[in-house]
Amino acid sequence: MATYADAQELAALRSLSASIGRDPHLTQAAGGNTSLKAGDTLWIKASGTWLKDALAQDIMVPVAIPPLLRAVEQRDPAADQPQGFAIEALNTSRLRPSIETTVHALMPQRVVLHVHCVNTISLAVQADCEAQVAKRLDGLEWAYVPYRRPGLPLAQGIAERLRPGVDVLILANHGLVVAAETVAGAEALLRRVKGLLARPPRKVAEPDIVALTALIGPTGYRLPADVEAHAAAIDPESCRMASGGSLYPDHVIFLGQSSVVARPGEDVKRVTERHGTAPVAVLFPGLGVLMRGDAGAGANALQRCLADVTARVDVAAKLNYLTAAENDELINWDAEQYRQKLNAAGS
Ligand SMILES: [Zn+2]
Repeated sequence: MATYADAQELAALRSLSASIGRDPHLTQAAGGNTSLKAGDTLWIKASGTWLKDALAQDIMVPVAIPPLLRAVEQRDPAADQPQGFAIEALNTSRLRPSIETTVHALMPQRVVLHVHCVNTISLAVQADCEAQVAKRLDGLEWAYVPYRRPGLPLAQGIAERLRPGVDVLILANHGLVVAAETVAGAEALLRRVKGLLARPPRKVAEPDIVALTALIGPTGYRLPADVEAHAAAIDPESCRMASGGSLYPDHVIFLGQSSVVARPGEDVKRVTERHGTAPVAVLFPGLGVLMRGDAGAGANALQRCLADVTARVDVAAKLNYLTAAENDELINWDAEQYRQKLNAAGS
């Protein structure tokens, strides 16, 4: 830490990070990340760690900004391995910096918050996202960034859209970035944008726990950790949206491609036979959701996220789903496999 003021801001950022991490409408599982620039050093959340643990654990990793930015500018593939730019002498936790480190380094502001805000994602999956957001964020300095794989491709997509003064980024099929010179400023901007993008969720009936329990049979499936997760299967519009494909990267990472929806009369065993493997989650239309017995906290958080996002999407909107190639590049990605490994270990 360069100065006392930097150390104070980092402490404030850790406190804000923990509070963001406890809000399922802002982050889920190991998603989302925060950073502070102190001179030429970027302090950023470590890959695979959860923001909610920001106070209890040492999850901020120091990264050298100038060489990382040079690598991004030169389109050097090394920029997609941010651990190569970690300042090991200061890196007491020995963790790897977030795979989204380049996104943070590119923003000129001192404090950057990247969240998988449910209100934002619900708009960011709509084909008319840019026009919808323009109406809501009128007067703010914001930019729309088309979908790219997190990491270097996303950083390059942002570099193409960044203009001086921009402090809000809407990442298509992904989430939100806000930036400011202070932690307090970034927090205020985050609350403001989240509020401006808010839409009420559609109301849904209660899950049919008795019927769901009867469908488990001998499979070891369980009810989801959060009762809110059921809405993705109970609401017919949400279920239709979920069945259409993958809407954002962390869904693919934690739950696999798209969603598996049971057909009429199928129980978990029949769904598994038809599908070929046991899905992490199965949606039973009108009834609710069942999770595979070994589904961890991350899978549960992302299953709830799907319900929270789809409940807010305009039922008349055309949706942009990730393509087959975009799904594949997420599943076969070294950095993600590392993040997944940490997650499995922690759950
Ligand atoms: Zn993200």
